[in-house]
Amino acid sequence: MPELPEVETSRRGIEPHLVGNIIQYAEVRNSRLRWPVSEQIMALSDKPVISVQRRAKYLLLELTEGWIIIHLGMSGSLRILSNELPPGKHDHIDLVMADGKVLRYTDPRRFGAWLWSDNLDECSVLSHLGPEPLSDLFDGEYLYTLSRNKKMRVKPWLMDNKVVVGVGNIYANEALFVAHILPERPVHTLTQQEAHLLASTIKQILCRSIEQGGTTLKDFLQSDGKPGYFAQELFVYGKKGECCPVCGEKIECVKLGQRSTFFCRQCQY
Ligand SMILES: [Zn+2]
Repeated sequence: MPELPEVETSRRGIEPHLVGNIIQYAEVRNSRLRWPVSEQIMALSDKPVISVQRRAKYLLLELTEGWIIIHLGMSGSLRILSNELPPGKHDHIDLVMADGKVLRYTDPRRFGAWLWSDNLDECSVLSHLGPEPLSDLFDGEYLYTLSRNKKMRVKPWLMDNKVVVGVGNIYANEALFVAHILPERPVHTLTQQEAHLLASTIKQILCRSIEQGGTTLKDFLQSDGKPGYFAQELFVYGKKGECCPVCGEKIECVKLGQRSTFFCRQCQY
């Protein structure tokens, strides 16, 4: 599933090809995604792209009269291609650009979304989102203050979009390992020092993943290429039964909030 670093990598990959360019029209071959593709997108004609932004895992294409909001869902990806390249089975949407290129959306499982908003402040999918993990609003003090009196366990709490956006299962597992915190700990037991370490670890891990993604940006221009996602260096995620890279103990796996949770009982407490 595309996580925040992959979405940011996608944003950086498509941005230089879209900003200042004009969307001539949208070719929607299958509008049945997670929700139906907005009618305003189907009716687009000759609209300049002003900016390409990101909020949580949503890509935001700013046009003169509103915004296209794209979510990649479970399996969505975006590529910039020549408009002469015929679409494949899972290529559901093309934004046909004035310079002969298309922004092509591929999504085999169709859990993604293409929505229209006249005004982002009134957009229901974006309201109620917590701070961006890489912004100054998200830091150890914020996490510590929010954690007081909370009885839930720390890993599902970190994955709650109201606490912080874009920390998916992989990054929650990895950050808790690096910060030496057991995923099952009740949130209110976090010390101030642990909250600071956790916030800075989350930032570091996401930044490193985005930097690694930067090296694959060329893939956005390959007609047969993969969508620019990258093999991540992981410490514990998906490594049940393997040796902890720090102490050599076996990595354990439990379900927490129905999500696979990997940890080392020796290094995390
Ligand atoms: Zn260990």
